[in-house]
This record gives sequence, C-alpha cells and structure tokens, in this order.
Amino acid sequence: MRPTKGIALAGLLAAALLGSGSAQDKLCPKCHSTGRVPNEIEDAKVAEMEAQVIHCSHLISRDRAGRGLPFLPCAGCLAPSLAAQARAEFDRLAAEKDAWLAERRLIDATLQPREAFVHIETRHFLLTCGLPKVVLPSKVVLDAHEAAHLYAARLEEFYSWFQTLLGYTDEEARVLKHQVFLMNDLRTLMKAATDYAQTPTDRAGRAVGDPSIFVTWRDRSVFKTDPDFHRHVVHHVSHLLLGVFHLKVWLVDRAGWLEEGLAHVCEMRLFGLAGNSCNIEQTEEDMPDEDWEPLVKKMVLQQQTVPFALLQEKRADLLTAKEHLQVWAITDFLLKRDQKQLPELIRRLKQDVPLRDALRDLYDLNIVSFDLVWSDWVEENYRLKP
Ligand SMILES: [Zn+2]
Ligand SMILES: [Zn+2]
Ligand SMILES: [Zn+2]
Repeated sequence: MRPTKGIALAGLLAAALLGSGSAQDKLCPKCHSTGRVPNEIEDAKVAEMEAQVIHCSHLISRDRAGRGLPFLPCAGCLAPSLAAQARAEFDRLAAEKDAWLAERRLIDATLQPREAFVHIETRHFLLTCGLPKVVLPSKVVLDAHEAAHLYAARLEEFYSWFQTLLGYTDEEARVLKHQVFLMNDLRTLMKAATDYAQTPTDRAGRAVGDPSIFVTWRDRSVFKTDPDFHRHVVHHVSHLLLGVFHLKVWLVDRAGWLEEGLAHVCEMRLFGLAGNSCNIEQTEEDMPDEDWEPLVKKMVLQQQTVPFALLQEKRADLLTAKEHLQVWAITDFLLKRDQKQLPELIRRLKQDVPLRDALRDLYDLNIVSFDLVWSDWVEENYRLKP
C-alpha cells in the first residue's frame, strides 16, 4: 500500500509534536516520515514462527541487513533527523542480535556439529537444536529450522501446562531460563553432556538448579517416532522445572518417588503412555512404552507392590522398573485426591518437613495405612485393559 499525503503529514506532525523532528525534515513518502520502513518476512508461515520467539539464529544469519528486526532505517530519507533516530535505534538492536548470535555460535565452535545448530531463545528456554529434520505422525517433514521452532513451541507449551498442573506462576520459579540441547548423534551428545551439563553420559544429562540444563540426543534405537522423543523431552524438562519450583532443591534424594512420579504423570497425561524415559542410568531395566494403568492395576491385584513407607526412602535412580510404575500411580492418586495439595506437599518436602507429617496435614493420610487406601483407589479407578 502506498502512503497517502494525509498519512505522511500526520506522521510528520506526530513526530513534530513529540519534539523529535527537525526543521530540515520534509514529507518522506517512503517511510511516512517516521524514519523507518518495515522489514517484513515474506513467508507468512515463517513470520508466524518468528513472532513466537525472542531470537532465532537462522533468522539473524539469513537476514544480514535487517537481523530479523521489524524495521530498517529509511535509506535516503527526506526526513533526515527522524531517519538518524531510527538508525541509532536500529544499530542498538542489531548489536544486541549480533552479540546474542556470537555467544550462541560459541556452542557450535565447541561442539562442531556437521550442520550449524539452530539456536532459539524463548521466554523460558534457550534451545540448541541439532535435529536435521523431524517427521511428524502425519508424515509431514520439517526441516532443521522448522524442527527447532516446533520444539521451542513445545517447550513453552509444556512450561505453561506444568505450571497449571501445580498451580504456580513465575514468581515461584527460582530460575527463569532453562537450556535445552537436542542433539542428533552420540558424539555431539557426549561432548555437550560433559561440557554443558557436567554429566559424562551416552544417554541424557542434566544439571538441575542454577544453571538449569538438559542435554539429550535423538537415539534412533530408543525413539522410533517423533512423539517418543517429544515425550522423553517432556519427562526431563519436568525435572528441570520441579528442581527450581519454590526452592532450588532437587528432590531426587529426599523424595525420589515424587520426582519420578510427577515426571511420569506428565508423560501419561500428555501422551497416554509412559516408559523408560528417564534413561540416564545405563543399568536401568528396559521398560516398553505402555499405558501404565492396567499394569499398575494388575500389580495391585496380585499384591506385587512395595510398601510406600519403604518406597519413599529410595533415591530416584535406585527405583526399579516396577517401582517407577508405582510412584507414577501414587503421584496420580495424590493429584486426583486433591490437586492443590500436591504443590504444598512439594513445598514442605523441599523445606525438610518429614513426609509422614506433610501427608497427614495435607491429605489426612497415615503413611502406614497409605497402601490400603491407595490400593483400593487403584482397584476402583484404573482400567484393567488398555
Ligand atoms: Zn527461526
Ligand atoms: Zn523516509
Ligand atoms: Zn526421570
């Protein structure tokens, strides 16, 4: 659309009223006398993806002149003082984009991936994505840039979902930016896990707290489909978020049952199945991905469960496959019995309140008779067939 004289004049008057113009400024049809011209992304789909994020390395490097910023200073502007102001603002924003990109590219320099990573910053995540493509269940194939935006969007979506589940806001989140590395091969994963999460591993590594980092790779022998990998990411990011909820205290030692139970709740509620997602421990038994309701119901009916009083003492990494199922069902039970008490239980456990006291005060449950109440509830509420 061409600017009309009226609009241009209005722009100039507005600028003059704000005291930002000068006497040499004339009506400039190119920029409606604002000193700035829009820097639009032509592809509407890409424009929509970029609008959801703060920074994207792909956009900054592709649009060298504009760095993906929404405007450019008007070149040869007839309102030179306004163009100079726009130029000063543009230069400041462009320098910020360049500094952000240079810092992200240090990761590429360290890990030396075959193809450059796509780095994206959103409100709560710094994502480094090395997935060359993603095939959706609909058979739609996303390229590396689209795949990175998909995971960036999924991370933010999960973040809100998790906050809704526990009923808290960012005011109670002790770390507001989480770093996620999604690698495509074992060599890069091993280097990233050692360098950034300080956990040498060939599976997935985490640094919980401050900084809050999750490093993993799309191991084709484990994750057959994109939803499998997505679920794995959700499981681990729940550990990052729980680790900084209320206090920067990781429950893996003092309440391993709840740490894993809640992560599996996220899997079951969002994907309808759970599995060996917490595959940090190489020695962990293999668990197929399944709907856990019937499995837990069978365990309860065959009296194959472990007393909660014993289970609650175990570190998260010492839980057996069957115990993972049980801690999921216990957490599910507590959430369904009274959802708003679960975050309060977490707060108290993080403050070192003994579990038996917190359970009694918040749920009116005794840790010794807990198993009976819970087993009855499972028998009544869980399906026997998937
Ligand atoms: Zn992008
Ligand atoms: Zn102009
Ligand atoms: Zn886990």
